[in-house]
Amino acid sequence: TRISASLKSGHLREGLDASPRGDEAPAAAAEEDKGESNKVLVCARCHSLRHYGRVKRPDAERLLPDFDFVAAVGPRLASPSGARSVVLLLADASDFDGSFPRAVARLVAAAGEAHRKDWKHGAPANIPRAVLVVTKLDLLPTPSLSPDDVHAWAQSRARAGAGANLRLAGVHLVSAARGWGVRDLLDHVRELAGVRGNVWAVGARNVGKSTLLNAIARCSGVAGGPTLTEAPVPGTTLDVIKMDSVLGAQAKLFDTPGLLHGHQLTSRLTREELKLVQVSKEMRPRTYRVKTGQSIHIGGLVRLDIEELTVGSIYITVWASPLIPLHMGKTENADTMMKEHFGLQLQPPIGQERVKELGKWVRKQFKVSGNSWDANSMDIAIAGLGWYGIGLKGEAMLGLWTYDGVDVISRSSLV
Ligand code: GDP
Repeated sequence: TRISASLKSGHLREGLDASPRGDEAPAAAAEEDKGESNKVLVCARCHSLRHYGRVKRPDAERLLPDFDFVAAVGPRLASPSGARSVVLLLADASDFDGSFPRAVARLVAAAGEAHRKDWKHGAPANIPRAVLVVTKLDLLPTPSLSPDDVHAWAQSRARAGAGANLRLAGVHLVSAARGWGVRDLLDHVRELAGVRGNVWAVGARNVGKSTLLNAIARCSGVAGGPTLTEAPVPGTTLDVIKMDSVLGAQAKLFDTPGLLHGHQLTSRLTREELKLVQVSKEMRPRTYRVKTGQSIHIGGLVRLDIEELTVGSIYITVWASPLIPLHMGKTENADTMMKEHFGLQLQPPIGQERVKELGKWVRKQFKVSGNSWDANSMDIAIAGLGWYGIGLKGEAMLGLWTYDGVDVISRSSLV
């Protein structure tokens, strides 16, 4: 990706006042073409791709600079120009809390609050609108879920991530792969943007943004217009891109670079490891009935210990990629499992030396209570990986082990 090329093209300037990224890339490699005026700056990964045909360093993904939406788009959200601002907050149905762009959501919520306070001075139409878009809905076991429940659940999770003052102008459940909800979303965005509004699509890397925007463009009937690259590797969209004509003659739709969420496990994994972790088909539950003193591993990535139980047993359902092996055994053997099997039988990580690279192995405790074995009472979700659904009648103390810095949260149950 030629960063300078897009800077020159004017796309960026039309969408943004300044670009805070790209040039400061920590791993950026500057290249100079023969012509003086044609300096090209490429990121380290593109450099590797061009010169070696592959990403040389497995951690190159992580070294790409993050896109600073707050600095780049923030000032325009509050712009007094009269143009409406709409921000599409994308979250992946299979990793909602990990992928939800909470910093951007907080920014939009704060900008909205500021505008509401200023109503008497300005036009209400200027209030930036946030629309929550839950992508990849086809990955959830949709036949057993009610859309209304998912809708309410997503809205409450968005508030949990962004704060209670986040007001959503809409919640859309979509699957670009299946074409679900794309038309409704397009109609709603057009209505919110009005004749000359600005719409920004924001999401973590790999949330499915390019696929969705292409589906929206197709739905809008833009023939031969610019389509975005759908990435086999996460994070391939590196610039803010304006998509012409999708929303009408003057309203503008902008694609923004995928956000790098360090709290998602995926941000630490190599491309080969990602293939094992990323879910591509409808998720299938794997359920265990376990007792105090037992543990369930998801590959060499996380482990859940049943530390104390007020009842005899508890049902644990693992929702994660079917390509990751699970292991249930005694907690007293867990250290040996880690030393001898992480990176080998329990992948990812791929290779024992990767275990240390993923970080310090740390525990977080959760107290869970429930009153049914049939329905899960609670989820313990691991950002970038999936979740454990917990079903019990009584109380339990659980210990969740994973690599330091990976977000682990408990939440009301989704499935
Ligand atoms: P971006 O990084 O946010 O632009 O994400 P992409 O659009 O490149 O998609 C990332 C991955 O998710 C790709 O492997 C896509 O094929 C996949 N994907 C995107 N949308 C969907 C969807 O609606 N359903 C499913 N199952 N997979 C999707």
